[in-house]
Amino acid sequence: MKLLLLPGDGIGPEIAAATETVLRAVEARYGLGLSLTRRDIGFAALEAEGTTIPDAVIAEARGADGVVLGPVSHNAYPPVSAGGRNPSGVLRRELELYANIRPALSRPAVPRPVSAEVDLVVVRENLEGFYADRNMHEGGGEFAPEPGVGLAFRKVTARASRRIAEAAFALAETRPRRRVTAIHKANVMRLTDGIFLAEVRAVAAAHPGIDYDELLVDAAAAHLVRHPGRFDVIVTTNMFGDILSDLASELSGGLGLAASLNLGPSYAVAQAQHGSAPDIAGQDRANPVSLIGSAAMLLRHLGAGAAAASVEAAIDAALSSPETRTRDLGGALGTRAFADHLATLIVES
Ligand code: ATP
Repeated sequence: MKLLLLPGDGIGPEIAAATETVLRAVEARYGLGLSLTRRDIGFAALEAEGTTIPDAVIAEARGADGVVLGPVSHNAYPPVSAGGRNPSGVLRRELELYANIRPALSRPAVPRPVSAEVDLVVVRENLEGFYADRNMHEGGGEFAPEPGVGLAFRKVTARASRRIAEAAFALAETRPRRRVTAIHKANVMRLTDGIFLAEVRAVAAAHPGIDYDELLVDAAAAHLVRHPGRFDVIVTTNMFGDILSDLASELSGGLGLAASLNLGPSYAVAQAQHGSAPDIAGQDRANPVSLIGSAAMLLRHLGAGAAAASVEAAIDAALSSPETRTRDLGGALGTRAFADHLATLIVES
């Protein structure tokens, strides 16, 4: 199994190193024939090669079975003309990663801001919507016709809506509660979210065994806080999915736990839900569960289900006690010591 590891910026190198420690333990325990190649992206690549995502890295991503992508500080990059491309947006577009699968799962011993349990997955469309860096064939989806005037295009197509709905219903078929909620704003965005809803309804009709309902995005935000247990699989457009998944992750215990997988027809990229957290970078304080959990999702996607389950079991065991948690969760361990602890649990499992 060939994996490409791209550490990124901010806390990226630390949580990527922690993920590497865990993957090496997985290899020692399960013998997957894992080959792990590390390549610079972000500021490290900009300094060495003049671009935050060299073409050679994109080519290597195409040649790998899967990619583990660290967070990037793309807001701090220079303009595209000076090499500052957003590696996350570029990979999503180049590898046609149309689905971003974002689980939020509470654990009994991990403090969370609501008493209700959270066990849901946001299935977020990843290539269209308002995302100006990827929603146009050429050029960006945002521009200024004159100073002080900004315009943004929101693109929603039947094709993308259909395939994100199919991804959501396929996932719901594998989950015990077998429920899909479509989240939209079709009362205002009648045309765009109208297209989205029509496609989701057509897919729902083909899955009579799945309990299906719809919510406006504003109501959904309130329900998430008040009754997170009503949600199982959420299917939604790009920006709503981005925002609601951070809310769901925070409700489940914090962004440091928030894993995700980007999926396309041919490629898969594991990626933490959060950004590069420059405020805690270089301090051995970041919680690497987000990226390690994402790598576990990738392993499962690549057919290594037992290895993925052992990583998830190690995470659950470590999170069950404050002594073996990271500081964001009131624990005592640094990033490196936490990863070493997970590695020991996996090797001994
Ligand atoms: P960026 O500009 O790259 O989006 P950001 O700091 O604005 O970075 P996030 O990285 O998404 O946004 O995170 C917001 C805050 O949540 C961080 O400042 C940090 O304090 C906390 N945080 C995020 N990820 C982690 C993590 N893995 N472990 C611990 N704390 C985290």
